[in-house]
Amino acid sequence: MSSNKLEGKKLAQGLNRQALEAFWMPFTGNRHFKDDPRMIVGADGAYFTDDKGRRIYDSLSGLWCTPLGHANPDIVAAVSEQIRTLDYAPGFQFGHPLAFELANRLTSMTPDGLDYAFFVNSGSDAADTSMKMARAYWRLKGQPSKTKLIGRAKGYHGVNFAGTSLGGIGPNRKLFGLLTDTDHLPHTLLEENAFSKGSPQYGGLELADALEEIVALHDASNIAAVIVEPVAGSAGVIPPPAGYLGRLRELCDKYDILLVFDEVITGFGRTGNAFAAQTFDVKPDIMNLAKALTNGTIPMGAVVADKTIYDTFMAGAELDHQIEFPHGYTYSAHPVACAAALATLEVYEREDMWQKATELAGHLERAVHELRDEPYVTDIRNYGMAAAVQLEGIPAEPGKRPLQATIKCWQKELYVRCGGDTIQLAPPFISTAAEIETMCGKIRETLREI
Ligand code: PLP
Repeated sequence: MSSNKLEGKKLAQGLNRQALEAFWMPFTGNRHFKDDPRMIVGADGAYFTDDKGRRIYDSLSGLWCTPLGHANPDIVAAVSEQIRTLDYAPGFQFGHPLAFELANRLTSMTPDGLDYAFFVNSGSDAADTSMKMARAYWRLKGQPSKTKLIGRAKGYHGVNFAGTSLGGIGPNRKLFGLLTDTDHLPHTLLEENAFSKGSPQYGGLELADALEEIVALHDASNIAAVIVEPVAGSAGVIPPPAGYLGRLRELCDKYDILLVFDEVITGFGRTGNAFAAQTFDVKPDIMNLAKALTNGTIPMGAVVADKTIYDTFMAGAELDHQIEFPHGYTYSAHPVACAAALATLEVYEREDMWQKATELAGHLERAVHELRDEPYVTDIRNYGMAAAVQLEGIPAEPGKRPLQATIKCWQKELYVRCGGDTIQLAPPFISTAAEIETMCGKIRETLREI
């Protein structure tokens, strides 16, 4: 065990219940966790180490963000070197070379036309940034009434105001009062598509056509953008039914509405190509990215915009020295994040990671669908290196059964995450077929035991 891990272990063991109190944990049942803590003190490759020294397989690549596994030596070296060389540089009116290099590299991977990268710190920031960009775009085009934003039921776009408003997961919204002006497309989970492998067959065109009704209700002259996750992640891996994304694109073109893909989860190989836009052959006007951009090592996101959008901002500012988009974060294009991202993109390419993901995806699909007849399983969905096992809920106790499964898996040295009533899986691309098999085997045992 490395000295840092030993320190972490000692520290964790020294934390009594009282010492756990001050940290208000995110998206966690604080009282539940603090009564029975699950402490991670180290990580390498596809495994975490806990405070008892156990090695725990990371079946969700952290929170969908570490497809290369943990402690990748190239990323560690790049980050360490960058902190020594330039630990911070102000990003407003000044620049540093890595930001430009990263923007060039990133936009060389995105679909043609998506040529301009605006850097942010997270997927939630990307949601806010892309929505402000969309509204400002229409204002600059002389259509200031186009402000309404359209999300989708069961969508997740993070936790800032735009993402919360556009999100479609009830418990994430209900405490927060008046949100931004939005409406929502219906979700794409249909009973007749249960246990589909990959993209389901039914309902794609009809579900996308629901946008026509939203347009009829609000009028296109009031709508700025539609945002969807190409494959919904947090609601439990919901791949788009056949034809869905293409029809959304057609309708957005028909009504002059910007189409935004939130690729925070699908970006960087999860669907077998760099981006889901390529996998499904549908080009959005704006693409939101985060998570695997730095392989999870340093917080960073990006909003990649079409050239027509960038050009509109440039043309819209009358004075040469004028700030065209009054928006940005203290840590936009942070040099250490840029170094992490550049090293990450280099490893993806050098090690042909999308190909590896594609090969493993077949194993994941087979192994996860073999869980079909296990107790409580009501649906299994998968796309690329993502899968979800949906469990029958306990009446009046939403989310309880998957939480029981999560804890049981943890006891079996397997980290899984539950969201709603699903167990979600997004293994690191560096996994082996045997590890995927073991992961599904432990889920099988768990379902039989809970
Ligand atoms: N968008 C999607 C599709 C996500 O899955 C997430 C996080 O899971 C976010 C946005 C928010 O990202 P972050 O937690 O980095 O703010």
